[in-house]
Amino acid sequence: MMYQKIALVTGSNRGIGFAVAKGLLLKGHKVIITSRQEKDGRKAVKYLSVFGDVDYHTLDVSDEQSILKIKDYIEKEYSQLDILVNNAGTNYDTWQTALNADLKEVHGTLETNLFGPWKLAQTFIPMMKKSKFGRIVNVSSGSGAMNEMSAGTPGYSISKAALNVLTIKLAHEVNGNDILVNSVCPGWVKTDMGGANAPRTPEEGAETIIWAAELEDASLNGKFFRDKKVIEW
Ligand code: NDP
Repeated sequence: MMYQKIALVTGSNRGIGFAVAKGLLLKGHKVIITSRQEKDGRKAVKYLSVFGDVDYHTLDVSDEQSILKIKDYIEKEYSQLDILVNNAGTNYDTWQTALNADLKEVHGTLETNLFGPWKLAQTFIPMMKKSKFGRIVNVSSGSGAMNEMSAGTPGYSISKAALNVLTIKLAHEVNGNDILVNSVCPGWVKTDMGGANAPRTPEEGAETIIWAAELEDASLNGKFFRDKKVIEW
């Protein structure tokens, strides 16, 4: 088991992010819970603090100022970040087709699902390089796999496919610094996004994300995982 690390989980007030935060706490890491709305985050902190060492900060990943604020906070409090889980995600746009999609809506989806993780990686990788350690997990989706593009959700699918490409690009650029960047598909999970019919619990969805956050094998960089196995996409 890894010794205690400092982890930041985006969108950890509910759903899979909340379960990831809980799982990382149970592994003994310090977890910075984040939410867009402070009241939602504080509620999550109240539940999660019984499981371990919790800190809290607001974070809207689509807002550059919000990212700069959390960077300043982490620099001041900890001078390092070991684990970044880019979990926050939005807009499973089943009602859209690529032909008729509202591109303003697609733009908003990309702001959260792609540019947020991208900006956070740009923000924290220099810190990870300095401490010569880092694990970034981008929470992606099978909807972003090229071989699963026939269904709807154009904005969401494109955001996740692009996130997978970003994972590969970053993985190449950090190679040799003991920083690993990977994507994980949690499977179909019962959350506000996944809906009530999904077969997996948030804890089950979180399992591979937590595993990727603690990876030791340096050859597993720039991969896309589901159920702890590399998947083709
Ligand atoms: P939920 O809708 O249950 O939770 C989404 C979380 O992301 C919330 O905490 C939400 O905050 C947060 N969020 C949304 N936009 C932003 C933003 N701009 N800045 C910060 N936080 C934000 O979704 P899930 O838990 O199901 O999904 C988590 C991740 O897993 C997503 O990336 C999703 O795409 C992915 N995924 C989910 C699957 C599923 O079946 N559920 C399947 C495959 C992938 P708030 O409460 O403020 O809205």
